[in-house]
Amino acid sequence: MLRQQNDLGRSYLEIDLQALKHNVSQLMTLLPSLDHFMAVVKADAYGHGAVALCHELEYLGVSSFAVATLSEAIELREAHIQGDILILGYTDPKQVALLHHYQLIQTIVDTAYAKTLNEQGIDIQVHIAIDTGMHRLGDGYNDIDAIQDIYTLSHLHVKGIFSHLCVSDTQDSSSIDFTHQQIQSFFQIIDTLRQRHYDVGKVHIQSSYGLLHYPHIPCDLARIGISLYGVDSSLADKKNNPLSLKPLLSLKSKIILLRHVQKDETIGYGRTYQTTSSQKIAVIPIGYADGLPRTLSNCGHVLIRGQKAPIIGRICMDQMMVDVTNIEHVEVNDEVTIIGEDHDEKIMVEDIADNSETISNEILSRLGQRLPKVYKGGSYAKTLLCVQS
Ligand SMILES: *Cc1c(COP(=O)(O)O)cnc(C)c1O
Repeated sequence: MLRQQNDLGRSYLEIDLQALKHNVSQLMTLLPSLDHFMAVVKADAYGHGAVALCHELEYLGVSSFAVATLSEAIELREAHIQGDILILGYTDPKQVALLHHYQLIQTIVDTAYAKTLNEQGIDIQVHIAIDTGMHRLGDGYNDIDAIQDIYTLSHLHVKGIFSHLCVSDTQDSSSIDFTHQQIQSFFQIIDTLRQRHYDVGKVHIQSSYGLLHYPHIPCDLARIGISLYGVDSSLADKKNNPLSLKPLLSLKSKIILLRHVQKDETIGYGRTYQTTSSQKIAVIPIGYADGLPRTLSNCGHVLIRGQKAPIIGRICMDQMMVDVTNIEHVEVNDEVTIIGEDHDEKIMVEDIADNSETISNEILSRLGQRLPKVYKGGSYAKTLLCVQS
């Protein structure tokens, strides 16, 4: 992360923490209190930088976090994040000492896994995953006896129970029926466990779309990922979003080289683009290794001086070329917007996802690796400066 900051003069992500605050308050219109907010910050907070975001979220009053892996969880603890940290995915039972040491909460992926964890002889906190129809993690919801066994394992302290909705983003009637069925199956098992006097702890089933489309489910936590970042999974989802969310992330670069290329020359690998006249080409220092999808080759565009510049030729690993023939006064060092706003134009991550036949979540989660991040508008960082000075 610090090493990456040396590359700020190349391409960078700009993360707006005022937008984070705005999105939390928008989402809070659907939740009874901040205790119900679980921020999903897996994959380095969907590419936004988990440590910085969690500090800001704790400052805003959020005290529950979810990640996918043990390393992601440890990174947050080492950065002094105090809140609950739930690992949503599998952790190798050999690592149970780390779960204990860092006071992490492990997801129980099924009863056999719970027994193996328990055999390690080290006390840990867990949430039990229940499969209500997605068939990814959890014992089946009708496997009550197997699930009940987990509560009797002496080293596992059960602090919660959850399930995951798999079509809560889709609003046709069969998807709505299926979601209602999942919710019903989930609460049926919770009722049974309660009747048998087990303390089920925190109950949760909604992710972003679960909360947006089914806000009234009686839960203790909602696991909010994509909405926290102010983004919809797709352009189509945008129309149905009842909240007004703001994207946190912009992706900026600059022109490092301008060149004139004659008519009938080709640009880049594979010679996939041929000039139709004498054209002005700008070289931009960003490529697919920075997380930009290669599928934008010859079909996406960037913004320069508030105007669209088409991506021409194949996107390379670290660089790409754009056509700036029609942009007046264009110069080396001009700012290039790949995601974000420039004058009256904007490119949303949803546009890029649509163009690449994927969802925003995938695009965002791939951007975090090599690009340095610049944070603006954060209250936590300001407090730190005040404390230091
Ligand atoms: C990733 C994930 C979430 C967050 O999903 P969003 O759609 O981004 O809000 C919630 N729950 C689980 C189990 C997840 O894996």
